[in-house]
Formats: sequence, C-alpha cells, structure tokens
Amino acid sequence: MEVKTSLLDNMIGVGDMVLLEPLNEDSFIENLRSRFDHNEIYTYIGSVVISMNPYRSLPIYTPQKVEEYRNRNFYELSPHIYALADEAYRSLRDQDKDQCILITGESGAGKTEASKLVMSYVAAVCGKGQEVNKVKEQLLQSNPVLEAFGNAKTMRNDNSSRFGKYMDIEFDFKGDPLGGVISNYLLEKSRVCKQPRGERNFHIFYQLLSGNAMQIVGFMEDEVQSVLELVAAVLKLGNIEFKPESRVNGFDESRVKDKNGETTGGLDNRQLYCGTQFPVTVHMDTHLTFLNNFCAYYARDALAKNLYSRLFSWLVTRINESIKVGPLFAKTRHKVMGVLDIYGFEIFEDNSFEQFIINYCNEKLQQIFIELTLREEQEEYIREDIEWTNIVYFNNAVICDLIENNQNGILAMLDEECLRPGTVTDDTFLDKLNTICAEHQHFESRLSKNSKFLTDHSLPHSCFRIQHYAGKVLYRVEGFVDKNNDLLYRDLSQAMYKATHSLMRQLFPEGNPAKVNLKRPPTAGFQFKASVGVLMKNLQTKNPNYIRCIKPNDKKVAHIFTDSLVCHQVRYLGLMENVRVRRAGYAFRQPYESCLKRYKMLCKTTWPQWRGPARDGVAVLLTDCSVPTEEFAYGRSKIFIRNPRTLFTLEERRRA
Ligand code: ATP
Ligand code: MG
Repeated sequence: MEVKTSLLDNMIGVGDMVLLEPLNEDSFIENLRSRFDHNEIYTYIGSVVISMNPYRSLPIYTPQKVEEYRNRNFYELSPHIYALADEAYRSLRDQDKDQCILITGESGAGKTEASKLVMSYVAAVCGKGQEVNKVKEQLLQSNPVLEAFGNAKTMRNDNSSRFGKYMDIEFDFKGDPLGGVISNYLLEKSRVCKQPRGERNFHIFYQLLSGNAMQIVGFMEDEVQSVLELVAAVLKLGNIEFKPESRVNGFDESRVKDKNGETTGGLDNRQLYCGTQFPVTVHMDTHLTFLNNFCAYYARDALAKNLYSRLFSWLVTRINESIKVGPLFAKTRHKVMGVLDIYGFEIFEDNSFEQFIINYCNEKLQQIFIELTLREEQEEYIREDIEWTNIVYFNNAVICDLIENNQNGILAMLDEECLRPGTVTDDTFLDKLNTICAEHQHFESRLSKNSKFLTDHSLPHSCFRIQHYAGKVLYRVEGFVDKNNDLLYRDLSQAMYKATHSLMRQLFPEGNPAKVNLKRPPTAGFQFKASVGVLMKNLQTKNPNYIRCIKPNDKKVAHIFTDSLVCHQVRYLGLMENVRVRRAGYAFRQPYESCLKRYKMLCKTTWPQWRGPARDGVAVLLTDCSVPTEEFAYGRSKIFIRNPRTLFTLEERRRA
C-alpha cells in the first residue's frame, strides 16, 4: 500500500490496520472502536475497506462528499467507501480493467447499503445525458423491486436480503453505463411457509395486503397484475387446510377442508386445490390415491415455496431483459463492474443445509480473495521489478475440496445418497460420511486430511462438524436429504401447467404433459455448486475490491459497540489473516517522490532541496537514517518497505 499523509496525520486511531502497532486482536478491535466512537466508520486494510454499520444516517454521503472523493487517489483522503468506488471506477474507465466489488459480512452488517452506496457513487460520477440517465435510473430502480420480493424483516435486520445477488454493470469505452445483468443465488424460500418467531414473510406480502400500488420500472401493467396474482396464490396456498379421512383399507387420506370455487385475482382456487390434492404418480402409472394428511401439507408447502422462488427467478430474468445492454452496443466490448452482495459466514447454534451451502460459498470467496490478493501483489512486484517473496498463509483449498470434490466431497456424497434406491434418510447420509471418514482415517483422504472434517466424540447426535477457515461449525443433518432433493410431485407441476394463468404455466414448463421428462431434476446442492462455479470464474477475470461489513451490536441501534460481537466478526471475516497477508513481504510501497517529500527533512543532504532523481534521494535518505538494507527494496517507481515499524521510526523522527 502507499502511505499518504492522511493515513497518519490527524487520525482517530489508524486509518489503515496495516499501520497498527502492536498488531493483535485487541489493538485491532480497539482501533475500530475508537474510530467508530468518532463517527469514522471506515478503516482500511491496505485496499480493503472495513465498514462499521453506524445504524444512523451520517452526513458523509452528500454530493459534496462525492465531489471530494472524485478523481482522488485512494490513500489521499480519509478512508471512505467512495474512495474504493472511485478507484474501481477510474481503473475501469482509464485502464480498461474489469472490476468486481465483493461485499461480505453478517446479516445486518450493512452489505446491501454498501452496495447501494457504491452504485449511487458510480452513477453520480459516470457519464451524463438523457440516454445514460435512463440506464442509471433502471439499474438503481432494480433494487427496490428485488428488495420487495427478496427481503424480509428478521430478528437481525429489518430489511434482510434473503438471497444472494451479483450484478454486472456494463460500461462503454468512455465509461458510460450501458446496462447490466443480475444473478440471484439461493432465495430462502422456506420463509414463504414458515417464519421464525418475531420475523416476517417477504415484504411484498405486506405491501400487497396494504394495497400499495406496485410500480415497477419496465414492467407492463398486465405483467404486474400477473405477478401480484401469483403472490396472492402463494398466500392462498398457505391457507389451504386438509382434514384426514380414514379409508376402509386402513390408509388415511386427506381432503381439502373448504373447497369453494372463489377466485384469487384470475386464478381459480380449484386449480390450486387440485394441485395439492392430485394423485401421486408412481412408476408412470397414475394411481388415483389421495395423499395422507402429512404428505398433503408437505405437498402444499413444496408448491408454495417452488411457486414463489420460481416467480422470483422470473422477476430477475424479466428485470434483466429491461436492463440489458441495447442491441446497438451488444457487440462492442464492454467494461464491467460486478457488485456482489452475498450472505456472509453463518455460525448459529443450529446450522442446517442452508448454512452449509452459504458457508461453502464463503469458503470459495475466501479462496478467491487469497488467490486474487496474492496475484495482485505479485503483479505489482513484477511491474516494479521486485523479487517475489513467497507469502506464507493458510490456504483453505482443502476445505473447498472437502465440500465440493466430485468423487468424495460432502456434496457429492449427499447427491449419491439422494439418488440411491432404498430408504434414504439424513442419518444414512451421516453414516456414509462417518464411514468413509473412518475407512480413510489411515490414509491421507479428503475427509481426514488435516482434520477439517472433525470427528471427536463430543459431537451431538445427528451432527457433523467442519473446521471452516472462519471457525468450527456444527451442522445438524436433519433436512439435508430433503432440501437437497427439493422435489416437487410431478402432478403438482402438471396441475400448475394446466392453470389458465399464463405466467403460472410459464413457471412450470416441466408440467407440460407433452414434455414429460423422467430425468431427475438436478439437486439443490448440485445447482448451487454449479452457479458458484460460474460466479468464481467470472470474478477471477476481474480486479477485486473488498468491502468487509461489521455490525457493532445486535440491537440495531446507534452508538453501541459490543466488543465480543465485533471480535467474533473480525475472526470469521478472517481480517487478522488479511492484515497478515498485507504485511507479509513488503507492507508499504510509496512513489519515490512522495517518500522524499515527506521525509527529506530527516537528512541534511536531501533537505531542503534535493537535486537529482527522487530514487537516489530516497537512497541517501534511508542510508542516512540507518534503515537496514534488508528492510527495503527499490522498485521502478516506488520504494518498498518491509516492516511497518520502519515507517513508524521515520514518522517519530519526523515529529521529534
Ligand atoms: P442482510 O444480510 O440481512 O441482508 P445487510 O448486511 O445487507 O444484511 P443492510 O440491510 O445493508 O444489512 O443494513 C441493515 C441496516 O443498517 C440498514 O437498513 C440501515 O438501517 C443500517 N445501515 C447499514 N449501513 C448503513 C450506513 N452506511 N449508514 C447508515 N445506516 C446504515
Ligand atoms: Mg442485505
């Protein structure tokens, strides 16, 4: 990193954690706290921005601030998310480097707000004009629509995103926005049927009930109508109740309690009822048997969840149609800025399939972080002609492999179990994991390798534990098989396809009897792994910019900073590791001119006026200040300094 005056002068604490002395968890947290107390919510780790959620509106996002940060070098002003956005945008525009902004942190830490701040900053500084403004408006307006359908009030956040989002914003060669593409990941569809105590369903259900008119950019009026009808249908499904009836042969079967034929906005209720009461197809023979009560409710919920998540994906596709790059520009090369707002590591008391998948995604992001940070470092070293020193760091590739390996990774074994004939339960899946682990204990196998799959005897029943890079997580296997299968009775799809509602038909194409496909749909785990793979490939081609969000307290209030909570997040975001990587090798680099300008007063030869190349001046200066030669290296345009202490010594002498 380059040390500029602003990071050392007049600072509350240090603006860059790389400068922290001594460096340990306590000093790290203390630095965050003292800055937070003074409304300094942003702190750097090199080029990484740590963002503390202030839980109140600070006057730091004004148009004046935008102007202040515009076209300024990253370290010139005090840390701010705008500095990151500006740096990313300028290197996209001027150096033709595609960028990605990776925003992580736990629920309520401020990821979505950060992503909006970045987007609005870029919108404010990039091109102007009627066409461009229309594109900007559409890109920005996609947020409220997705939030209405994909966000909900939870215990931890009143506006919690219940899906992962990645948005590519595309620019032309001048840096004017042309359009964008959004990808969504793993919507928490179970929320449609059941919300934890004190939490709510997705916002749209309440907006619908309170009759807000919904205005969606680029949506036709009849499309809006159709969408709302399906939202109503999901609600309606949730209200369907069944009553058990005993049959002569001893089996229970269930019937819909109230089967009147009223309609819900164009959808005949009977179509919905029909769906949930339809016979089950077994071996292609249609047996006209009704489901028992348990299965009937199960089918009802599966349908509601599927309907809603398909509707959500449809919305994303539809928004993409309206924000995609116009045909005039489609063929020219675009510069791209990707913004990723995705769930952070989740370590709860009870962790299920969802946390497993989310944490897997975070392992992959950490992999990319390590790869890209090191790559970036390496590239700078090559550019500056400095010998590359190997950096020792923890590589979490073994954990990724443990989860995703095609042969005996946990996901593969789960899939294998889900596809196996015979009785498959969550416990048989766990047995399989444990057996393979025991079998291979003697060998360097994946499951036992470096003990990332932990098999101590203290494990509670039906659980397994993984040593993630961010900490140990205990997973309860209950529901793994079912959630991975994510099956919908074929008859339900067929019933939905029979509906007169054209959007509904569109959402259940596999229900078309002419297109019966006996192949099993891919499992949820398989699909997620594939989409994470695509995302990683995409990110790898871009220059990364990191925003690490931290939540100061779990009361959603301003001014309170809870050490233990922050410490927990610092750990699982891997921030200490982050500083360590930044400080390994050469912690600082600074152009010769600025180094000379700042420290020339320390040596008579260079003060007040050095005649000659700045590089030589710096050489004289460092020798004169008795900085040991192994402490620095000369790059083409910058001086590289190994240890932050060296810099502090210079700083102290400067102040003395
Ligand atoms: P989730 O994972 O649940 O989606 P999140 O990390 O996206 O959480 P946000 O929704 O961005 O969290 O932030 C939660 C709330 O915190 C916001 O609704 C807002 O009230 C407040 N907040 C976050 N960042 C800021 C900020 N920079 N300034 C003021 N308030 C903020
Ligand atoms: Mg969010």
